[in-house]
Amino acid sequence: MIYADYNATAPLRPEARDAMMAALDVGANPSSVHAPGRKARKVLETARAQVASSIRGLPQDLVFTSGGTEAISLAIGGVVKQLEAKCTLLVSAIEHEAAAKNAGYSGAPTRTAYVDANGQIDLEQLQKTLDDWDEDAFGKPVLVLMLVNNETGVIQPVADAATRVRAAGGLVVCDAVQALGKIDLNVSLLGVDYLALSAHKAGGPQGAGALWIRSGAPLKPVIYGGGQERSLRSGTENLAGVAGFGAAAEASLRDLGLFSKLSGWRDAMEARLKAEAGVVVFGESAPRLANTSNFASSGFRAETQVMAMDLAGVAVSSGSACSSGKVRRSVVLAAMGAPDNLAECAIRTSFGWKSTAKDFDKTAEAWLKAFHRRNLKETA
Ligand code: PLP
Repeated sequence: MIYADYNATAPLRPEARDAMMAALDVGANPSSVHAPGRKARKVLETARAQVASSIRGLPQDLVFTSGGTEAISLAIGGVVKQLEAKCTLLVSAIEHEAAAKNAGYSGAPTRTAYVDANGQIDLEQLQKTLDDWDEDAFGKPVLVLMLVNNETGVIQPVADAATRVRAAGGLVVCDAVQALGKIDLNVSLLGVDYLALSAHKAGGPQGAGALWIRSGAPLKPVIYGGGQERSLRSGTENLAGVAGFGAAAEASLRDLGLFSKLSGWRDAMEARLKAEAGVVVFGESAPRLANTSNFASSGFRAETQVMAMDLAGVAVSSGSACSSGKVRRSVVLAAMGAPDNLAECAIRTSFGWKSTAKDFDKTAEAWLKAFHRRNLKETA
């Protein structure tokens, strides 16, 4: 089987597995003061330091959560609560549902920050919105902008957007779930106030994540209980999950150079698909993750492709795999202005730390075979 769905979940890295097994054997609560508890605390704080250093941040600014969704929920829910909803959320049109829905249910008004045909936020429109901002009417502007889109791999100009929002007295929530372990991250250079991370996109386990919070940024908890994680996220930490997260963050930071090499193989695969089948590649003119390719051939429906690829032993996904099971029109591609008949034919391949050149070749071959078979059927 060729696994080409890393943006859904990356296979567990051996370093993460080892760290998790060791953490499972500790068998104590990191909040307990006795020796086993202190041992568990050491595991927790080691992981915190590893994750923090993978974004060039400080460990004390990091709060562990149950994943990316919860980290985003804490950021959005927590800032709206602290500001007593005296804010307006400017939500980019290509956010993952974790951000879009948490913004929608936050109790604060929302407005859309549009993207261009390459899937990047329209900075001019953002600037205009900020220039016209009426603080009495709208409260503080809070931009909700992801760093990397899960469907297209397109990288957003977050630092530029954050500078503009900060100058207008606003705050920035950034979903960096797809960025960790894939691009070099420096949270200070990004200039955001909240940065959400998830372990399983970087070779760690599912069910572990973190929110980095700029020191002094307004935030109230959304979960109450025993006061863990500086009272910002009560509940006993998932020690094994967090240990795996730390090890995966460290390993993926070490392997960033290898990850960036995936783009050569990806580009060759896309060139072949374009030459032999005329596929359209979404977001190809924008800065993109090295591992991701989202492409379509009009008339060849995504569900059919995903099934044909599965039968050929290649795991890919259609649209956003995080909300998969349901095949729906992609909000992201629609926001980029892709016509329906093309968007419903888009599939995403995403590779990672275990992928080889052969995986890309075989993926292209399997796809072209399915494409030609379908064309034969159509013409028969
Ligand atoms: N944000 C993005 C961009 C994602 O791709 C995902 C994927 O699941 C999430 C948030 C949610 O993260 P998690 O699965 O850790 O809750």
